[in-house]
Amino acid sequence: MKQYPPGRGGSNPLRADRGPMRRALWAACVYLLVGLVWIEFSDQLAEAWFKDARALSEVQTWKGFLFVGVTGFTLFIVMLRQLSKDRLLLLLQTRQRKLMREHERQLTVLLNNLPGMAFRFENDFLGTFLFVSDGCEELTGYSAEELMEPGSLSRLGLIDEVHRLEIAREVADAIRQDERFSVEFPIACKDGREIWVWARGCGLKDDDGSRLLEGIVLDVSDRKALEQELEELATKDSLTGLLNRRELTRVLKEELERAQRYHRSLAVLWIDFDHFKKINDSHGHAAGDLVLSAASRVLENSVRGVDSVGRFGGEEFVVVLPEMGQAEALDTAERLRREVHHNPVILESGDCVSVTISVGVAVYPAHGTSVERLSAEADKAMYQAKMQGRDCVAIAQPIRSIHNEAT
Ligand code: GH3
Ligand code: MG
Ligand code: MG
Repeated sequence: MKQYPPGRGGSNPLRADRGPMRRALWAACVYLLVGLVWIEFSDQLAEAWFKDARALSEVQTWKGFLFVGVTGFTLFIVMLRQLSKDRLLLLLQTRQRKLMREHERQLTVLLNNLPGMAFRFENDFLGTFLFVSDGCEELTGYSAEELMEPGSLSRLGLIDEVHRLEIAREVADAIRQDERFSVEFPIACKDGREIWVWARGCGLKDDDGSRLLEGIVLDVSDRKALEQELEELATKDSLTGLLNRRELTRVLKEELERAQRYHRSLAVLWIDFDHFKKINDSHGHAAGDLVLSAASRVLENSVRGVDSVGRFGGEEFVVVLPEMGQAEALDTAERLRREVHHNPVILESGDCVSVTISVGVAVYPAHGTSVERLSAEADKAMYQAKMQGRDCVAIAQPIRSIHNEAT
């Protein structure tokens, strides 16, 4: 369709110079002018042409009929045109209203059947929901009215402060780059439950210039739990809940790199349970599992928060002690040995099972500078402890003395 620049003619029916009053006045003026001209000139012409009074009177009558006929016909055409236009407009309006109602209905059905909630949010200091779909109650426990009260987000404690700042930053970044935002965060439901949600949407400007956010929020708690479970499966040992061999090796590698970068020490403890086969043989494999599990807790509770304890396989465990020198590492190993020794495990049968461990200690950089070397030296030291009679601690040989022995 051709677009006319504003104020320069064209087909805009709502132009100010085409107001109904103006048009009606214009039509009346034209009618009056034509009428007056017709009366004036037709009378003069008739008088000039018809001298006979009777004939003139007859002509005057026919002239009146002609005027009425022509004006009636004109009126008919004008009215017909106008009424047809009105009818067309009415039809268009009805059709448009029907289409809008249909769109509105489809939108409502769509929004109310979303697996989460749709929202429109005023992204100002207070942060107020301008619209939330019916799904909000199922998702959060709060009704649409409760959520749409000004500042409800912080008042209801829906999102904690840390996540709010994180979300605000991500949303601002997305808006700046003219992209959609996509964020995951936990929310506190009305009944106190915490669920994880995924919000996706875009920022836009309202007619009055205020910043708005529009989008949807979906419950992704199940997926989050699955992700967490998978992560645990990939990094944790299923029997003891400690780090598994792969994760522990990764941690050891990472800590060793850090120790090398910052010129710090690092200790590795290699632990093997003494005569564990006997425990299995006399109490059964399940009891052996229970003992391993209980002893794991003892090990775990006897180290610092920064230390990592993992099950390397069977009844062999490894402890990584960042920023720890030889003397401190020996103390820690001795403490672990004592704790395990003095914490017998009570089985379901009521039997009390005492276990002991042999611990090998290797320290970076004195005993090795690679993961493989440190592990091998700690393992060797552990065998040394076994040779010394078990339930004891042995330290690896320094690299230099190994060299000296070899030469
Ligand atoms: P040593 O003092 O020489 O270490 O004697 P040990 O009997 O502990 O010998 P070793 O370490 O070679 O054998 C480990 C035993 O630990 C073999 C197996 O019966 C038992 N074991 C290994 N893994 C598990 C486990 O997951 N559960 C149970 N219950 N027993 C295990
Ligand atoms: Mg053993
Ligand atoms: Mg073993």
